[in-house]
Amino acid sequence: MPAAVYGVPELCAVVSLNLGHPTAFCIENHPAKYMILAGKLNVEEYAKGSLLSGGNYIKEKIDRSIPDDHETFEKGIMQYGCPHYKRRCRIRAPCCNEIFDCRHCHNEVKNSIKIDTVKRHELPRHEVRQVICSLCGTEQEVRQVCINCGVCMGKYFCGLCKLFDDDVSKQQYHCNGCGICRIGGRENFFHCSKCGCCYSIVLKNSHACVEGAMHHDCPICFEYLFESTNDVSVLPCGHTIHVKCLKEMEEHCQFACPLCSKSVCDMSKAWERLDMELATLSDSCDDKMVRILCNDCGATSEVQFHLIAHKCQNCKSYNTRQI
Ligand SMILES: [Zn+2]
Ligand SMILES: [Zn+2]
Ligand SMILES: [Zn+2]
Ligand SMILES: [Zn+2]
Ligand SMILES: [Zn+2]
Ligand SMILES: [Zn+2]
Ligand SMILES: [Zn+2]
Ligand SMILES: [Zn+2]
Repeated sequence: MPAAVYGVPELCAVVSLNLGHPTAFCIENHPAKYMILAGKLNVEEYAKGSLLSGGNYIKEKIDRSIPDDHETFEKGIMQYGCPHYKRRCRIRAPCCNEIFDCRHCHNEVKNSIKIDTVKRHELPRHEVRQVICSLCGTEQEVRQVCINCGVCMGKYFCGLCKLFDDDVSKQQYHCNGCGICRIGGRENFFHCSKCGCCYSIVLKNSHACVEGAMHHDCPICFEYLFESTNDVSVLPCGHTIHVKCLKEMEEHCQFACPLCSKSVCDMSKAWERLDMELATLSDSCDDKMVRILCNDCGATSEVQFHLIAHKCQNCKSYNTRQI
């Protein structure tokens, strides 16, 4: 079977980021160099495709005595599994030789803080060899259709990732570039080899490529992004962050990338408002000049000192720092 067609439905690919235009703000002395209060970002989550894919049934004939019977094949679909997957088999963990519903169930038990640090481990998903049919209990080598009762153990099946899932509404696909299965529909994503991850096609010609952008931890919650099951956004600077963590930044009125301090959205409206607000304030009495570095465009300029904010002379951003 062509391995490239199958996948494990576990990981989200990088979704697009739609940010609004914050218009209200209040700049304070913040480590990120600026905070905008009451600004409104609108991080739209990637609209998940509603079309169910047909799955990837493989009608293999295992034994001539088993009729190629659709009813047998479909038996118990969506009725077995765990909180993570609807599937009709369990797996034998290659690491500890115990049986679990899925690798997440294994990791919850074997990689929890309750376990002695030296004994903690994650299940190496690609190394799973044996599965146990949930309908007849037969243990067998990893395959899609039970060798004994002929039931399909997972409507979506990836022979590489050893993933089974009857819920194909996740639109699973296996990405050879990533080496793992992702969700959201192959047609909606492309693999960027520089960033080293699948990105939404919306970003195909518009994202800033950062070498290995996805192969680091989220700067807010420190989860490894490449294997994260939560939605990930790519910022205009090319750095990546969880959608939920970006929302948290929004709630705390922080609009600068935690890694490089560049603005995470189009701030032009906010800067226009700030222009007007600053114009109404009485000018600072002294003519002290300061040199500033712009976090957005990288230009340096010399401007009159101001208590509230300094404007980049090159790109008009107030996302600047004194140097
Ligand atoms: Zn896969
Ligand atoms: Zn599970
Ligand atoms: Zn079976
Ligand atoms: Zn990929
Ligand atoms: Zn890229
Ligand atoms: Zn995060
Ligand atoms: Zn950045
Ligand atoms: Zn600038």
